[in-house]
Amino acid sequence: AAWEKADVKEERILVSVRVRPLNSREAGDSSDWECISPTTIMFRSTVPERAMFPTAYTYDRVFGPSCSTRQVYEEGAKEVALSVVSGINSSIFAYGQTSSGKTYTMIGVTEYSVLDIYDYIDKHPEREFILKFSAIEIYNEAVRDLLSNDSTPLRLLDDPEKGTTVEKLTEETLRDHAHLRDLLALKGRSGKLLNETSSRSHQILRLNFVDLAGSERASQTASAGMRLKEGSHINRSLLTLGKVVRQLSKGRNGHIPYRDSKLTRILQSSLGGNARTAIICTMSPAHTHIEQSRNTLLFATCAK
Ligand code: ADP
Ligand code: MG
Repeated sequence: AAWEKADVKEERILVSVRVRPLNSREAGDSSDWECISPTTIMFRSTVPERAMFPTAYTYDRVFGPSCSTRQVYEEGAKEVALSVVSGINSSIFAYGQTSSGKTYTMIGVTEYSVLDIYDYIDKHPEREFILKFSAIEIYNEAVRDLLSNDSTPLRLLDDPEKGTTVEKLTEETLRDHAHLRDLLALKGRSGKLLNETSSRSHQILRLNFVDLAGSERASQTASAGMRLKEGSHINRSLLTLGKVVRQLSKGRNGHIPYRDSKLTRILQSSLGGNARTAIICTMSPAHTHIEQSRNTLLFATCAK
């Protein structure tokens, strides 16, 4: 694969942009965006006087409104997802404003990833793998276990060997792809789990699929009471992620502020070191969302 041949440092963070189709609420709205190549999106203002100053933004991949999630996965996430079978911890993120397509994209990408990982496992019977799946939500810097009925916030523990772990987090051992589908649909735990008693030692690999809070919450909007609290906490995790990703993309010299938020603490072992990261930045093509879309592209540019 490409990242094995190329300079690993440069290829650790794969950044792509996905523009979704206009939705029914945006029908009739104009668009300032055009995907002009598989790596370039062009901004040309719909304001006539400004239209003569187009700007091109280039990323590892750019996916226009007609691209399928399968294509986004194949070209924007697959190599990162499959790196887990080589013992490399990985994370795949969707970043973008609310309703830009983060969840839509991550659901498909997660399913395709697990299908491909099982495909690899089936083709390599000489190797033994155990896939573990957990799902957490971080809201107001409180961490909750989505596979448990208990919604008490969980503590983070610092383990000298494993790094930061989430105390008492449910880890489901996946039987097959259908099992993952059940878990994703949160249909609960069905059937028996894999028998883990094996004489061989196992390395637990981590592949994180992260559906981030809407990026509009990373902006400095001050409002009263609960909303202020909500805003400031979401700021912290998203802003810290942005700082960490920027530092890593520059070659990780100096201090990387992993410890400044719960999100980056939990993901530390899957972001730094030898880890691989794919960031899929999602945006609406509508003129109405121009400011948020430009912020999203700025984030994507900084991550490169
Ligand atoms: P977010 O998670 O960023 O808030 P969603 O993933 O929920 O956004 O997407 C908002 C709506 O747009 C959903 O109804 C979703 O089905 C639809 N949508 C998002 N991306 C696409 C796409 N690429 N093609 C078709 N519909 C999409
Ligand atoms: Mg969502």
